[in-house]
Amino acid sequence: MKIMKFGGTSVGSAARIQEVARLVQKEGRTLVVLSAMSGTTNSLVEIAGYLYNRNADGARDVIGRLEAKYLKTIRELYSTEESRAAAEAFIRQTFEGITGTTRELFGAQQEKLILAQGELLSTHMMEIYLKEQGVNVLLIPALEFMRTDSQGEPDQEYISAHLKPFLEEKADVYLTQGFICRNAHGEVDNLQRGGSDYTACLIGAAVGSEEIQIWTDIDGMHDNDPRIVEKTSAVRHLHFEEAAELAYFGAKILHPTCIQPAKFANVPVRLKNTMEPEAPGTLIDNVPEPGTIKAVAAKDNITAIKIKSSRMLLAHGFLRKVFEIFESYRTPIDMICTSEVGVSMSIDDTRYLSEIVHDLKKYGTVSVDLDMCIICVVGDMDWENLGFESRVLGAMKDIPVRMVSYGGSNYNISLLVKEEDKARALQALSRHLFA
Ligand code: ADP
Ligand code: ASP
Ligand code: MG
Repeated sequence: MKIMKFGGTSVGSAARIQEVARLVQKEGRTLVVLSAMSGTTNSLVEIAGYLYNRNADGARDVIGRLEAKYLKTIRELYSTEESRAAAEAFIRQTFEGITGTTRELFGAQQEKLILAQGELLSTHMMEIYLKEQGVNVLLIPALEFMRTDSQGEPDQEYISAHLKPFLEEKADVYLTQGFICRNAHGEVDNLQRGGSDYTACLIGAAVGSEEIQIWTDIDGMHDNDPRIVEKTSAVRHLHFEEAAELAYFGAKILHPTCIQPAKFANVPVRLKNTMEPEAPGTLIDNVPEPGTIKAVAAKDNITAIKIKSSRMLLAHGFLRKVFEIFESYRTPIDMICTSEVGVSMSIDDTRYLSEIVHDLKKYGTVSVDLDMCIICVVGDMDWENLGFESRVLGAMKDIPVRMVSYGGSNYNISLLVKEEDKARALQALSRHLFA
């Protein structure tokens, strides 16, 4: 059975919901995971923000506008009064519940409950629509099987054991909510923003699905940024490791957390475009493609930090001290390059930059470069393959390069350049690698 996940933009209006229903019915027996309609989770976050600030009027204002949007959607969505009435009852009840929280003491638990409503709404509306279309649909409440453990990590055994009984009931389409779950104490929780992809991949892994499809409203993965490079091609196939590199380096493909469960369960993931459903999309699996360079991605707002110290020469334990400083400020390091007397690192979270620089100065001379950009080239870059390094560096012939990182994995070379050189660098790489 295939898993089909549709993002918020794919269920963002009555017409989009109808299109999703059409796509789902073409698949045969399938399990569908939905996000909230686009904009909804942001509005729910805004409502929670007002309630934390004890601004009940602000909250009611956003609640009113959001409810009106839903009521308008269902007027367009359904063709029978019976469906409309059922959806309206659910919407009214949901928003009464949200309004109720404006009168309570507001805390983290109330916030989680509010954030959960978007996916509950979209799935109930879809259930009613599919029934209207004569589809035998079973809505499986995510809160009854999707669970995190005491570390906040998905509890794969629990998920599998509690999902499977639902799938023994006969249905053509199983439907469930992305994003929402319960924590180890059984309280309503979520898998963090953008978590619906994660839900789909956890389910796919739990049931050993044949394929996890992630449907979005844009054309799958490109070999370069189409906003910057004139001629890009669709990437039809990626290895999970390549997808992981691209996700970490900011390409909007799959959320990085999604890759692990699908990879381990060896379930292929396919990125599909709702606007162009017949296109094959991008397939991500464990099958390597020897010698192929797949794609280039870039991540802005990077800061490079260099520390130089003669104490590093022949010393041991120097890097540990440096890394501990970053760790103490919970700041992840993206790239690292070292020489015998110095080390350069890049970060994208600069909240503690001045504290980090202050502490690093205990160990050496520190310099900082702001407004940098990581460019990452992804593909089969096993070190025994010949020639790809020179093609990548050849492309950079006229562009100043601050750092080069290669050898950390078999799938990537990363370059750090000035943000102002990003477009030139991406264009040059496109010519050298894909022309
Ligand atoms: P949501 O995040 O609202 O649930 P989607 O996940 O379908 O909905 O996508 C939201 C937006 O993120 C899209 O409109 C699109 O602009 C952007 N996006 C999604 N996937 C990609 C991608 N592969 N490359 C670039 N942008 C993307
Ligand atoms: N609705 C949630 C969000 O906007 C989850 C998701 O769409 O993936 O973050
Ligand atoms: Mg999304």
